[in-house]
Amino acid sequence: MKVCFFHLSDYDVDLIKEKLIEAASYLGGFQKYFNSKDKILLKPNLLASDNPETGVITHPLFFEAVIKFFIEEAKKNDYQLEIACGDSPAVSPSIKVAKDVGIYQICEKYNIPFIDFKGKTQINGNKKNIIKNFEVASEVLNFDKIISLPKLKNHSLTVFTGGMKNLFGVIPGKTKAYLHTRFPDSVVFSKMIVDLADSLKTGLCFMDGIIAHEGEGPRGGNPIKLGYIIVGENPFIVDLLASTLVGYNPKDIPFLKYYSQKHDVSLDIKDHQIYGDQLIFRKDFKRISFYKKTTIPKRFRKGFIYNYLISSRPFIDNKKCLFCLQCYNICPTEPKSILLIENKSSLKDGEIERIEQTSEETKKVDENIEKIKKIEKDKNKFKKLKKLKYNYNTCIRCFCCQEICPHKAIEIKNSLISKLLKSIR
Ligand code: SF4
Ligand code: SF4
Repeated sequence: MKVCFFHLSDYDVDLIKEKLIEAASYLGGFQKYFNSKDKILLKPNLLASDNPETGVITHPLFFEAVIKFFIEEAKKNDYQLEIACGDSPAVSPSIKVAKDVGIYQICEKYNIPFIDFKGKTQINGNKKNIIKNFEVASEVLNFDKIISLPKLKNHSLTVFTGGMKNLFGVIPGKTKAYLHTRFPDSVVFSKMIVDLADSLKTGLCFMDGIIAHEGEGPRGGNPIKLGYIIVGENPFIVDLLASTLVGYNPKDIPFLKYYSQKHDVSLDIKDHQIYGDQLIFRKDFKRISFYKKTTIPKRFRKGFIYNYLISSRPFIDNKKCLFCLQCYNICPTEPKSILLIENKSSLKDGEIERIEQTSEETKKVDENIEKIKKIEKDKNKFKKLKKLKYNYNTCIRCFCCQEICPHKAIEIKNSLISKLLKSIR
């Protein structure tokens, strides 16, 4: 497979656009990937309304460079492309996130519609897939190509996230939660991601790794300047090169491993054709340790031995938590695996008062709590709002709570076994 690597120290829109044009030419030319009247859906990573400098979302200036690339290539090739942008973030409406981070304004600047994924439809996958038919946003089917514009990051469930995992955004919000409960195991979930990517009409993939995100991912870590721009003929090859450059062994990334087995493609980047600048490896990038989830039957996935010795688990630092309750809202299990309990010891009184009395935060918390209080069966849990706690016996380890926490209050504690495995690897 073919992939291009470029190094740029910052977000210079015109310079990035030139690199993308160069990449398309290396990869066989624009016409190889697009037809003259294609409808193209750009799919950036719009996880949440975070400042683009945190490296959590696709940077709006990178996004702008991609738009300029398409406009220029269309003009050069005398194409009449229809370009749009869309995503379905985890909690907030996509238009709100797009406006908060500046992507929406760029769409307006270039007269490109921003599509709020609202509809639902089914697409037929391969019978051998983990899921035969995927439920996706119906708007997606109006396009000839979906162009994944991922951010280079880690992911607590899938280890790494890039072009392929970014495509999970075409799944409507509630269906995402359902898929997490159906496929709680990271390996099986990753297989589902590959099957989904295979079921979509994807094409070139453009990864923004200029400011990436290291450590806890996809949102709880820190920005890191890598300066990478990676463009590949498909999302797999982009993810393979990106993860290799930051020090992963691709065999430790379940979706790459499964893709390579499914399509009989080498996981060694040396077996692929790489163009562009000299590769820059960043072994100092803070990776997350790989923990393969166990295949222990569901009935044994509880109790001290499973929860603390065998399985990695999310953990809330109540000192950092500001009770926004986004983690509670996104938790897909029924009943929720995050409980609000009376705080007995871990917070000092002063800290509790601060949380309860900061006016802006309190207003938000109150709004959320009022909503949650309406859920009759949970009413008693919220009478004494003091502290969040996990019920590890029902938690399926999807790590959506860690993904969504805006205050880095949730971390992943590795199990004793995964720590031991890591130390002998
Ligand atoms: S999302 Fe984070 S800050 Fe918000 S309630 Fe959960 S742990 Fe606390
Ligand atoms: S990892 Fe978090 S979101 Fe997922 S089931 Fe457990 S508590 Fe809920």
